[in-house]
Amino acid sequence: MAEQEIYYEMLWDCTQCNTKGLLGDSHRHCPTCGAAQDPGKRYFPKEGEEVEAKNHKFVGADWSCAYCSSPNSAAAAHCTNCGAGQDGTKPVAIVADTAAVPEEPAQKPVPVARSTGWLRWALGLLALAVIGIVFLFTSTKETTATVAERSWAREIQIEQMARVSETAWCDSVPGDAYGVSRSREQRSTRQVPDGQTCHDERIDKGDGTFVKRRECTPRYRAEPVYDDRCRYQVNRWRSVRTLKADTQNALMPVWPMVSNLNANFLGGGMGALGSEREGTRRENYVLTLASGGKTWTCNVSETVWSRYQEGASTPLKVRLTGGADCDSLQ
Ligand SMILES: [Zn+2]
Ligand SMILES: [Zn+2]
Repeated sequence: MAEQEIYYEMLWDCTQCNTKGLLGDSHRHCPTCGAAQDPGKRYFPKEGEEVEAKNHKFVGADWSCAYCSSPNSAAAAHCTNCGAGQDGTKPVAIVADTAAVPEEPAQKPVPVARSTGWLRWALGLLALAVIGIVFLFTSTKETTATVAERSWAREIQIEQMARVSETAWCDSVPGDAYGVSRSREQRSTRQVPDGQTCHDERIDKGDGTFVKRRECTPRYRAEPVYDDRCRYQVNRWRSVRTLKADTQNALMPVWPMVSNLNANFLGGGMGALGSEREGTRRENYVLTLASGGKTWTCNVSETVWSRYQEGASTPLKVRLTGGADCDSLQ
């Protein structure tokens, strides 16, 4: 940039006479007591209280006198306070602007917790506990049990073709929908550019002055995205009742009788509104086993169930926690 950079005065406080807000460039020494400026104690003024350093020429960061610590202009060959030479001195420390709004605070590395002896002991105990629990739940001992009770249950869902009201985005309405009505609704949001957020960054030049630099980041706002929402009706099979049969009906498992199905409702044929059909079938077989005053119930397959007669003896694996290993019934 060709434009003239504007320099502002850093501030410093005199520790000798407690005068505050002295100017970094104009007051190399305290105007009240004459003490030399400590360049390490320079700070940025509050926003809006900045004083321009008129006709300031930047020649580089100050050097700090090795003998009396006074800040000296990079152009000065000798200390203005004590006359010592510039050789071998370091430039003064640059101050970071802590008053500026921190857009993204610098991430401090999180120190990695070192595994201590205590932690190792705890992990060891935890591993032992896990092994113990696994052992408890997997190890079994064999016992001889009696088949105390056998029961079964079977059911058939009866479905009916029914008119169902649904809503969906109009681009995913099923092909057999009817009575469709549309309305506009918000479907999502999108981020659209909305100008930029700017703030002034203040940079310590190290010679008692600072400059401002404008930092801008793009800003976005959420905008609703509308689409067509469809309300419609569609004919679908719905479960309306359940036919059941169990041990009360017969000793041997049978499926419940399916009768009086309106498969051809009002002559509309299969699939017409009001017509019925068989749906999902479920079955479930239970053996109750007893040994030494304890009982266990096992859900088994029909094949396994049919092999065990009531009153028969069978080996059964029982876990240390007391539960039966029903897979040991074959
Ligand atoms: Zn002073
Ligand atoms: Zn000096």
